[in-house]
Amino acid sequence: MCRELAKALTPRLNVGEELWSAAAERAAEALQGVSGDIAAELEKRGFTAEYRDLSFPGVLVWGRVELAEKKVYVDREALKILGERLAASGRNASSAQLEALVLAHELFHIIDGRCPPQYCEPAAVIFSLRLTGAGE
Ligand SMILES: [Zn+2]
Repeated sequence: MCRELAKALTPRLNVGEELWSAAAERAAEALQGVSGDIAAELEKRGFTAEYRDLSFPGVLVWGRVELAEKKVYVDREALKILGERLAASGRNASSAQLEALVLAHELFHIIDGRCPPQYCEPAAVIFSLRLTGAGE
């Protein structure tokens, strides 16, 4: 279930079993001691969230973290399109749920900045699905 939704969220996320398991382990480690109150978790680490256009023609970007600025940016328009895509595949997610997923995803990158690049993105996706309960 988690994997299916992860693929819907990031269509280009295509990793083999081995990397997927490594990513799941990494996500589980990062989840320890993190509460479901994502805004509080970001705040605790000195980060604030802001809306900003991040996408460009042909590429939708839901969110981005700028570690040096201590900011998490969320592209609302891109999330709207993501919501439509999910709805088309029979899943309904509110904009608040999608925003929580994006913030949780970026929170992973903040917590685990040393995650190996080969499975850093799937790990962030798994982390966000588990933290928000969307992957259950
Ligand atoms: Zn990411």
